[in-house]
Amino acid sequence: MTIDLHTHSSCSDGTDPPARLVRHAAAAGITVLGLTDHDTTAGWVEAIAALPAGMTLVPGIELSARCDLGSARTAVHILGYLPDPGDAALRDALAELRASRLRRAETIVGRLAADGVPIDWQQVATLAAGATVGRPHIARALIDSGVVDSVGAAFAGPLNARSPYYQPKADLPASEAIRLVRAAGGVAALAHPLARRRGLVVDDADIVALAGAGLAGIEVDHPDHDEADRRHLAALAERLDLIALGSSDYHGTNKTTGLAACTTASASYRALVELAGHPVVLG
Ligand code: AMP
Ligand code: ZN
Ligand code: FE
Ligand code: FE
Repeated sequence: MTIDLHTHSSCSDGTDPPARLVRHAAAAGITVLGLTDHDTTAGWVEAIAALPAGMTLVPGIELSARCDLGSARTAVHILGYLPDPGDAALRDALAELRASRLRRAETIVGRLAADGVPIDWQQVATLAAGATVGRPHIARALIDSGVVDSVGAAFAGPLNARSPYYQPKADLPASEAIRLVRAAGGVAALAHPLARRRGLVVDDADIVALAGAGLAGIEVDHPDHDEADRRHLAALAERLDLIALGSSDYHGTNKTTGLAACTTASASYRALVELAGHPVVLG
């Protein structure tokens, strides 16, 4: 089994539409695929319809949150696996997060345009085409306008969190993100706790607190983690009885990471599914 539980489609800031993502996953030898778009379940139906025989889909989401349990207010990303997409509280929260992402992206684009950068909102809206909007969409518009030559260059420059154009996203308290996922019958996991390059570093005390708030899993193997990080997180997962996950966090051509760059052990996957209140979807 090749299990990759964290990927993005063009329903958020990946570049593959869900059906193409499924085809690429099959070509990469993936047998269990997690679709975890930011703040939306919109890609699930198309992904499910595209599943080839023998592939399993684990429908999920990724929520941006802020650790409200320790003192540091660290930014964290919470993965939610197998929540009921019809759950009203979850649906409302996702709709509000998407709406606030739109306002935030318009703010960033407005600041860029006001400073003479050749970009306008219509360009970004067209590129996003109804998807959950993120900085990668603005990056694509900046490439089209000849301002930068890659998504990475946009993130290193005008879209960087230290740039004067930057506007943070609205985010949920982490305890609320976990609660929403669980109340919808899903399983909550912490994404890339040590994504140092992106300034996302969750310390052990916060992870302990999140575990106490109902977190069930944690990404140990992730492209942003080095070997020492992985050893540290594996030991922590063991100590806290968290399911150790491994995933690529694939974003199509918006990132250089390929599908199945990191994978999850089958025992961990089975533990995750057992905890969920809803079945996976078989192709
Ligand atoms: P946002 O959520 O709008 O703040 O944008 C962050 C998204 O862009 C995340 O989903 C990341 O996966 C992606 N991202 C962050 N840093 C980079 C980078 N240097 N290059 C490409 N994508 C990135
Ligand atoms: Zn993303
Ligand atoms: Fe993330
Ligand atoms: Fe992600």
